[in-house]
Amino acid sequence: MGTIMSKQHNYAFPLPPIPSLPVAGSDQRAPVRRVYCIGRNYADHAVEMGGDPTREPPFFFGKPADCIVAGGGRIPYPPLTDDLQHEMELVVVMGSGGRDIATSAALDHVFGYAAGIDLTRRDLQAEAKKTGRPWDMAKGFDYSAPCSAVRRASEIGHPTSGAITLKVNGETRQAGDLNQQIWKVEEAISYLSRFVALAAGDLIFTGTPAGVGRVVRGDRLEGQIDRVGDLAVTIE
Ligand code: MN
Repeated sequence: MGTIMSKQHNYAFPLPPIPSLPVAGSDQRAPVRRVYCIGRNYADHAVEMGGDPTREPPFFFGKPADCIVAGGGRIPYPPLTDDLQHEMELVVVMGSGGRDIATSAALDHVFGYAAGIDLTRRDLQAEAKKTGRPWDMAKGFDYSAPCSAVRRASEIGHPTSGAITLKVNGETRQAGDLNQQIWKVEEAISYLSRFVALAAGDLIFTGTPAGVGRVVRGDRLEGQIDRVGDLAVTIE
């Protein structure tokens, strides 16, 4: 009597696992809440995709959190595409959030950074663009977001320059620099927080430099971002 009992939900089936990323140099993991991606954020990639490299406001899309493949590894070739492509990206891991975050305060909300690949079914994306349909099935498919361990911002700071590269079978396909980003991390966070409330565990894939291209079964992808991390993926 008088004891406050916490209400236990009687779930009809087991809770799905919470996606998470390892935190480098510790036994902790960073739980993943939502995954956001910036559409075009390097001028040379905007040009290669037939777009305009100027500072138009950034646009965003999402992937389900369970598209994350923590630490990379073996990934099955996805169904319904003949044009799977790699996009090597700096990933921001939010440690806190909010709405309408000022650019000047945005980096205070960053827990750390990781290296990720925004895998894309380019043929489905091209069809979606042509017909004005959503990108979800082009971007948010199973295993579409391999991602490295997270390096804490308290350890590495907030990288604004440094090489971002991706090799396929040992051959360099993408070689950019973080300083080529059209929208800086703090600007991207501020913009995104005007659309949605951000929170701890949100990931932001911050766009890819030029050199995106097709991969096939058996290819080994090796991505690296200076001081942030590296990631290897084999497509099966
Ligand atoms: Mn991308």
